Amino acid sequence: MCPHTPPCPDASGLDREAARTIISHPEQGWSLLCNGIVVFEDTGELLPDGEPIAPHRPTDLISQPVLSARRQESPDESSHSSSAPAA
Ligand SMILES: [Zn+2]
Repeated sequence: MCPHTPPCPDASGLDREAARTIISHPEQGWSLLCNGIVVFEDTGELLPDGEPIAPHRPTDLISQPVLSARRQESPDESSHSSSAPAA
């Protein structure tokens, strides 16, 4: 089935999404992988035996915006001369 070398991961493997895309329909929101899995754009999947996989988009883990407004604290050059006694 799989003409690739090394062969694509099997549909039952955890790395099944690493298989090569052989048919892509981005306008319809799905792709067919070499191992027979249909992957939808919402990260849902349909296995070759008809079993659906719920969407599991990794972007859901990133929910907090980047706090870029925080100012950097510049070190005070005049204060580092107060040395503590090196006991
Ligand atoms: Zn393949």
